[in-house]
Amino acid sequence: MPAVRLAARWVLPVDGPPIAAGAVLIGADGRVAAIGPDASVPAPPGVPQRRFPDGAIAPGFVNVHTHLELSGFEGQVEDDDFAGWIRRLRELKDRRSRDEYRAAARRGIRDAWAMGVTTVADTGDRGVVLEALAECGGSGVVYQEVFGPHPDQLETSLRDLKAKVAEQRGFESERLRLGVSPHAPYTVSAPLYRAVSGYARSERLPIAVHLAESPAETQLLRAAAGPFADAWGRRGIPLPPLPGRSPVAWLDAQGVLGPETLCIHLVQVDAEDVGRLAGAGVAVAHCPGSNRRHGHGVAPLRQLRAAGLRVGVGTDSVASVASVDLRAEARAARALAELSWDDALALVTYEGAKALGLERQVGTLTAGKWGDAVVIRLTDTRPPVEQVMSGENAVVATYVGGRPVFEGIRA
Ligand SMILES: [Zn+2]
Repeated sequence: MPAVRLAARWVLPVDGPPIAAGAVLIGADGRVAAIGPDASVPAPPGVPQRRFPDGAIAPGFVNVHTHLELSGFEGQVEDDDFAGWIRRLRELKDRRSRDEYRAAARRGIRDAWAMGVTTVADTGDRGVVLEALAECGGSGVVYQEVFGPHPDQLETSLRDLKAKVAEQRGFESERLRLGVSPHAPYTVSAPLYRAVSGYARSERLPIAVHLAESPAETQLLRAAAGPFADAWGRRGIPLPPLPGRSPVAWLDAQGVLGPETLCIHLVQVDAEDVGRLAGAGVAVAHCPGSNRRHGHGVAPLRQLRAAGLRVGVGTDSVASVASVDLRAEARAARALAELSWDDALALVTYEGAKALGLERQVGTLTAGKWGDAVVIRLTDTRPPVEQVMSGENAVVATYVGGRPVFEGIRA
């Protein structure tokens, strides 16, 4: 992998102030070798140079929640009722072949790069995304999904999960980590949650869960009622015992919450839940666009951050949001929690990396970290951080470990 030297009107390291007329040297090992003012960053002979006089270089973005295997399902699942939406998505998924899933995963990776995203935290059940990332030279954490709402499904579900994990362990690398995702409290039984979390701890696999997303999920666990309870009843699945608990309290009782657990959505949470999540030290994937699309409500982003939780931003799948524009999600998060532009940029870089436990590897442009970078076109006199996060300012190029993976318009 050749080294590359990038220079631009602005460089935004994120762990320090913006650098006017800055440069980044990425070594042949794919890691940042030097960063600073253009004049002070070495230009070793033979190292290719790229200059972006109308660009800003930022750390590659971290998208903490994707379903890349669902690429291509944009606009195809239109049901407004969430239980109906889940059912329709499942029908659509059953019609795709394994080769089509592989192609979808590769397309999803390219779409992410086109948005400046260099690290993903992906959940999926087909077991194709980690392999696709390995083939394409991508980076991130891939959580293998497991389902099984009926306690009788425990053994089969766990056996399938272990087989899929064993199949994929060979694709793990310095840049790729495998995890598990017991999908959500309305698709996974309490005993399966306990078994999967024990297995994950013994295998040192991080966990991702969709949690406290819809009012229907809260109704199921608190009152054993609502659309999920109706669907369970029709399928002969035993309902949660009463009196019920909040989704967060229920999942905590199964031993799932901990520092290696990524909780996706967290809309239906109260102050007690936030305290419980903070006590467990979980990380949060905040997905404002998806929450809005499904009418789930508004996540208490300010309270989650104020409680000291690690929070990143995720797009969720194209079946939910149609476009995987992470900067749009960051702008929605900024509006929701009245954040500064610096905070919005941090959410999709350093904070996202921290949520995944990857902050020593990615998330800032720092000597020794991976040379993951995005170049955004500057168009006017607004501060560079604001332009980098703006929807009007296009992605010019994306680099993973110093390797160009996307070339857009020139700057
Ligand atoms: Zn999701």
